[in-house]
Amino acid sequence: MPMAVSMEEVARLCKARGFVYPSAEIYGGFRSTYDYGPLGVLMLRNVKEAWWRSMVQLRQEVVGLDAAILSSPRIWEASGHLANFTDPLVDCRRCKQRWRWDQLPGAEDGHPSCPNCGASDFTEARPFNLMFKTFVGPVEDEGSVAYLRPETAQGHFVNFANVLQTEHLRPPFGIAQMGKSFRNEITPGNFVFRTREFEQMELEYFVPPDEADRWLEYWCNERLEWYVRLGIPREMLRLRAHTPEELSHYSSGTFDVEFAFPWGWGELEGIANRTDYDLKAHAKASGQVLEFSDPATGERYVPYVIEPAAGATRTMMAFIIAAYSSDEVGGEPRTVLRLHPRLAPYQVAVLPLSKKDVLVPVAKEVLQLLQPVAMCDYDDTRSIGRRYRRQDEIGTPLCVTVDFATLQDRAVTIRDRDTTEQVRVPIDELVEAVSARLSW
Ligand code: ATP
Repeated sequence: MPMAVSMEEVARLCKARGFVYPSAEIYGGFRSTYDYGPLGVLMLRNVKEAWWRSMVQLRQEVVGLDAAILSSPRIWEASGHLANFTDPLVDCRRCKQRWRWDQLPGAEDGHPSCPNCGASDFTEARPFNLMFKTFVGPVEDEGSVAYLRPETAQGHFVNFANVLQTEHLRPPFGIAQMGKSFRNEITPGNFVFRTREFEQMELEYFVPPDEADRWLEYWCNERLEWYVRLGIPREMLRLRAHTPEELSHYSSGTFDVEFAFPWGWGELEGIANRTDYDLKAHAKASGQVLEFSDPATGERYVPYVIEPAAGATRTMMAFIIAAYSSDEVGGEPRTVLRLHPRLAPYQVAVLPLSKKDVLVPVAKEVLQLLQPVAMCDYDDTRSIGRRYRRQDEIGTPLCVTVDFATLQDRAVTIRDRDTTEQVRVPIDELVEAVSARLSW
């Protein structure tokens, strides 16, 4: 089990090491928005890449899509989001702060209290729509309203007929998409767990209606395994079925993959049976035919949809929390991010033992050998011990050290982050040795 770490510590490490900065920090920050720094941008790409690899690259029946973020109000009217994508909003009568009713402490026992002043006197809950509204073009009137998508899904549904026209697919098949989504959350918080701008990774998997239950179960297992394969201990994960009251307006059954966050269990991903709700709603509103028809048998039907919908930014933080640990090396304490090599910002750090000019050409040669196979850091500052500590703290699985003996024997030392073991490898065999150790 990794050590328990507080969110404050995670946020501190993320800021100090360049993973995640509070946005507009020089102006005092901006409403729970965050910027991804040099290491964060690498890791977030790796999280999305790992998802894409398992959902698209390693499958033959799933294709990709990248739909527009600015979207027509007709999409959200037909999908039911304009009417139903709401959270219950209440005002505290004493301190006037606004809260999401179902997230107030004590709400589940029927005794909610205000997190700000402790009072338990609230206004009636009223629905608050989470979609960000904007105007397209120079005129700000009802005719130019557009919405920032609150989920990447819908792009999949409105392009259903387009995709079927260009790809030879028959259910079960999937359309995968990753990208930004926006929700005007009433109470964002817990660092990047809940923000108003975030990234999602969503698969819409179209299946024959009578196979939907089986595929829901399949995707629950498949997705749980994905987190385990990428290093989250199984005991930090659980699958939880939604209660009937929790179900979204489009769902007939949903399971959440939950993770043991420092404050308790929280959702990483929702896996829903969206039935034929969306395709039928768009067919009705647009007047287009949105169904699968088999030219060989003449069979026609509207598929059901199983949707595994994960958050990339939220998931990245979960991977950091699960990887966070500390131990002692040579009597010295160290913090280690035991990240899976696929997720670590850098897979390799090239470290010349000294800044002396004689080592630079061979260290640069080593760097150039490794850059095509792995994301590499190059660091020639401070003592070697401190450089190892830094690489441990940012999760770099391997350090390659170039020393004075390298000039004689054309060999370098590979140091393993987790075991701190060191092995000497000829430069000629380095690419192979590094690839084997990263196991990809
Ligand atoms: P919650 O109950 O936490 O508000 P949700 O059930 O509305 O989430 P979904 O609509 O199922 O979330 O979205 C799929 C995934 O997108 C979530 O599991 C989460 O990882 C991510 N996500 C949703 N809202 C946010 C947010 N405000 N900030 C960061 N990630 C989010």
